[in-house]
Amino acid sequence: MSVNSVSPIVVVLQYAKVKIFKGLPVLQNSMYASRMLLNPDIPEAAELRSKMTLGGVQLSPCNSVVLGPPKMSIEDEYLKHYPKKTIEDVNNNPEDAVVIVLGTINEIVDDGQWWYPACKCHKAVIADNGVYYCHTCLRHVFNVTPRYKLQIEVSDLTGCAILMLFDYDVYSLIGKSCADLLASMPRGSKSVEYPVEFKTLVGRKLLFKITNTSVSSRHDSGVYRVRGFCDDANIIAMYELPGVDISPTKAGSITPSNLVGSGEELVFTPVSLADDCTPCVDSAVFKKARFF
Ligand SMILES: [Zn+2]
Repeated sequence: MSVNSVSPIVVVLQYAKVKIFKGLPVLQNSMYASRMLLNPDIPEAAELRSKMTLGGVQLSPCNSVVLGPPKMSIEDEYLKHYPKKTIEDVNNNPEDAVVIVLGTINEIVDDGQWWYPACKCHKAVIADNGVYYCHTCLRHVFNVTPRYKLQIEVSDLTGCAILMLFDYDVYSLIGKSCADLLASMPRGSKSVEYPVEFKTLVGRKLLFKITNTSVSSRHDSGVYRVRGFCDDANIIAMYELPGVDISPTKAGSITPSNLVGSGEELVFTPVSLADDCTPCVDSAVFKKARFF
């Protein structure tokens, strides 16, 4: 908009979905392949402009910019917005809150189930009379998609915990969708076998955004649902600074910029986390799904 303030801008969205939500049409991205083209030099864009002009539609120049509410930066999300906790804190003081922990992945928990068949609503489906049934949509479904549900053991100096990673986070970590990974497994391997790709996760130190309520009592330590992760080395380094807690419980006027010294500029790589990718597996439904 800043370089093209005279003529209207044509936006082309490819691989998007139109839905009606609360009576209004909304656009939603496709999870792995949405593309946005701004002022593309294609015949269709030129045709759209000329049709609108011919049709008498008044197109105003881009002299105003409409912005939505500012999105929280990854830096704010992982350093300031949520409380900073050790794994010991998390295990000893369960609470219905989202917290940030820093941990190293020790191992992948092999419980024989690293994916589940999901309805398009993302919930697990169960086998029923040769087809699948979704307890959320209350109907039989014929198109199911495999989605990740992976448990990892993570530790810091104070203890260890099991974290449950869902589809988008596993996809972001290994760079392969669950369907692609299943398809790439060697012939003859069973779908319950753990693919070698998961081994690359062991030893990685990451900031995890988790819900501080254990979702299972099957392990000695708690099992916590991951709601996002951050692998940015600069943010991890700031999180690790000794004696400094800038999270909400002790938030003061300290900001990351004055922690790292004057004039030093840090570049952050955001990890994109779309709201609609939030895992939504109902655990009761999932337990049933494990036995089909
Ligand atoms: Zn469903």
